[in-house]
Amino acid sequence: MIDKDKLLNGTKVAAEIKADVADRVRTLADEGITPRLDVVLVGDDPASEVYVRSKAKTSAELGMLSETHVLSSTTGQAELEDLIDGLNADDAVDGILVQLPLPKGLHSTAILDRIDPAKDVDGFHPVNVGRLQQGRPQLVPCTPAGIMEMFAREGIDPKGRRAVVVGRSDIVGKPMAMLLLHAHATVTLCHSRTQDLAAVTREAEILIAAVGQRALIGADHVAEGAVVVDVGMHRVTDRAVVEHLYPNNEKKMAAFEKRGAVLCGDVDTTRVAPIAGRITPVPGGVGPLTIAMLMANTARAAAQRRGNG
Ligand code: NAP
Repeated sequence: MIDKDKLLNGTKVAAEIKADVADRVRTLADEGITPRLDVVLVGDDPASEVYVRSKAKTSAELGMLSETHVLSSTTGQAELEDLIDGLNADDAVDGILVQLPLPKGLHSTAILDRIDPAKDVDGFHPVNVGRLQQGRPQLVPCTPAGIMEMFAREGIDPKGRRAVVVGRSDIVGKPMAMLLLHAHATVTLCHSRTQDLAAVTREAEILIAAVGQRALIGADHVAEGAVVVDVGMHRVTDRAVVEHLYPNNEKKMAAFEKRGAVLCGDVDTTRVAPIAGRITPVPGGVGPLTIAMLMANTARAAAQRRGNG
């Protein structure tokens, strides 16, 4: 359980971001613009289906249009590329998102490179990556952008602070490090070959865990008072693991009894929260921010494409 005064409540911040997006969508509507997000789903991965449904639902709630293109898992590279070309050429489409991971045999990089950078609401295209690196961002990857938005809204200023990012993926770790650098933090980026990870992360005043390893960041990794952001997302179905991660936590155990699983992150929250100054929970931390920023990026793409972003 996280103390109320330490909690960085992603659900609450995401609601604020979405309210701002809804306002922007209303302003765009006055100019005759309704932002439209097109999501491409290849195959029938159940987790991806849930994410795609939630993106369509949130778009509708905020007054935006959305289309979902569902292709079978046997779809070939050329067919998928044709679809992307069609969406690039369609002026009604403002945002294109290809749900990852793609089935084996499809080349994700070639597909992502094919998306018009002006419609690349995930911010993964090399043009958008380069723009971010140069400090003139246009469309920024949603998860790190959401974390920065949360910092701004929660009064956490990275300027002059020691920030450590664990994980160097193109989706989270690298753009997160770049955003913190542009916000004038002193940034260290860690990865699987980092020696004595705990010694490095204990230096952090701001610690971002995007490792993809369940509860890797423990009490030993965190300095007193650090701001800890947990990007990880893992479904735990083993009772012994749930009992270890959440000892004497009736709420978590009740959720486990009900659903047969609970979510946890890359941080051992039970043991880290007493040390941290502020900390995001899982669920209810970074996840909601990511989808809120996807909506913000779609509205932004719609405006930018018409020269008023
Ligand atoms: P990823 O592509 O698998 O990258 C993981 C990174 O962590 C890699 O850079 C890897 O190092 C590093 N790493 C792995 N084990 C390590 C260790 N023991 N010590 C130090 N570094 C280690 O993962 P990702 O896409 O960035 O995602 C990270 C996590 O965030 C996952 O749990 C994912 O599900 C979650 N996620 C959540 C959201 C959300 O909206 N909540 C969004 C995106 C991702 P190397 O580069 O050396 O291999």
